[in-house]
Amino acid sequence: MKGKILVTGGTGYIGSHTVVELIEQGYEVVIVDNLSNSEREVVDRIEKITGVKPKFYEFDLKDQLKVDQLFATETGINGIIHFAASKAVGESVQMPLVYYRNNLVSLVNLLEAMQKYNVPNIVFSSSCTVYGQPDKLPVDESAPIKPAESPYGYTKQVCENILRDSIRAFAGSVHGIALRYFNPIGAHPSGLIGELPRGVPNNLMPYITQTGYGIREQLSVFGDDYNTPDGSCIRDYIHVVDLAKAHIVAINRMISGKNKADFEMFNIGTGNGYSVFDIIKSFERTSGKKLNYKVVGRRAGDIEQIWADTTIANNELGWKAQLTIDDMTRSAWQWELNCREKMQK
Ligand code: UDP
Repeated sequence: MKGKILVTGGTGYIGSHTVVELIEQGYEVVIVDNLSNSEREVVDRIEKITGVKPKFYEFDLKDQLKVDQLFATETGINGIIHFAASKAVGESVQMPLVYYRNNLVSLVNLLEAMQKYNVPNIVFSSSCTVYGQPDKLPVDESAPIKPAESPYGYTKQVCENILRDSIRAFAGSVHGIALRYFNPIGAHPSGLIGELPRGVPNNLMPYITQTGYGIREQLSVFGDDYNTPDGSCIRDYIHVVDLAKAHIVAINRMISGKNKADFEMFNIGTGNGYSVFDIIKSFERTSGKKLNYKVVGRRAGDIEQIWADTTIANNELGWKAQLTIDDMTRSAWQWELNCREKMQK
């Protein structure tokens, strides 16, 4: 065994893909998840893919006593990958206090336990949302942090600060890496895990695949009057498997002592910007389906365009996204088909 990693939110979309990669790299994995936005069955699916069933604890990280008990029971944890958080931008505007409590208290509880139980390393799920609309594209890690557009975005900024301050105060006993994700889409090639939005999806990719399948009548394209080549917004979409692999590299970096500072952050994207229409075209290519869509007004809070400068991640982590936009839409479509087939059985 390479070491023991605690993955919070390990049954969620990015968490489950990361657990698979960790197991395949020889790590022992312990998952904590409150199943607020995921299914217990994901643990079995991880076993189907890897042949190993990770240990699973169902509880909420806001519960300080349970967090403490977990670390008392699961001794010898070498690192934490912390995904567990609420992540819907619109919902965060409606329920800011839920977001502040969930996202901030969970991290505080984990950091307190890390200090008490001598857990040395943490990878934190951050987001390119911390940059707002950058002044310069592609955006690199030195870009200023802009006022957040939503309570969700604000929690990512505050959590990075909580980490920075705590790691400084712990004076070398805890190391952290914040990975600033761009737009993860796609699913595992096994077709056994992927994104499982509950209700009407907020994000583009699941909305497209559900429309392709006929669950939604039509995709609304939020604006074609932006200052971009085709008028729709531009994002840096990254395959979830590439993103998952970045976490393994980050945890390996700290465990092997190769980190250059106690707290580091990296952009995790492909370095390419694609428009909403590019994604629709890719989906039509890889699924062979014509997508029903119409252009509607802009969505409040959307930034016009953002994509990553990944130079630092590529050079420092020795990591680079490998999969193409067509790999992303193809695997997302395959996952949609697999899910629906299973539901009909
Ligand atoms: N989008 C869209 N229709 C939808 C959902 C999203 O046109 O039903 C657009 C959205 O305006 C943005 C892009 O797709 O330009 C990506 O949105 P998503 O919510 O997936 O991610 P975000 O970048 O907002 O985190």
